[in-house]
Amino acid sequence: MFGIGLNNLIKIGFRVSDHILKQQEIERSRTASERARLQAEASREKANEENSRYRRTQLEDEIARTSVAVECPNCGATGNRIRRNSTGFCQFCGTAIQISGNGKVFIADPIEKERALAAEEYRQKSGDMSNV
Ligand SMILES: [Zn+2]
Repeated sequence: MFGIGLNNLIKIGFRVSDHILKQQEIERSRTASERARLQAEASREKANEENSRYRRTQLEDEIARTSVAVECPNCGATGNRIRRNSTGFCQFCGTAIQISGNGKVFIADPIEKERALAAEEYRQKSGDMSNV
């Protein structure tokens, strides 16, 4: 009586519900792929973190192995551990202590002190131990 027969109404109804189902399916697959992407990202981050933790542990071990107990040439304090061929700081008076490859200990010159300070600052900010 309104120009649309029952059959047509049913057809329209099917088309609408078909459309809704398709949309839901698209939405579901979108969420699934988004979830997969997030999971992949999270596991990548975790792997990176583990990798950098491993590298840091390796370096810390190496530092512990290659460092020597040094008597501060300025204040005479013992108990500082510094690697050969590098510059560290006396934990008591802050003096930059440099050790040569053959184990000779001396107070670092101002340029080496600046370099070592910058490296230390970078290390503390970034957690990167590779330039120790
Ligand atoms: Zn000292």
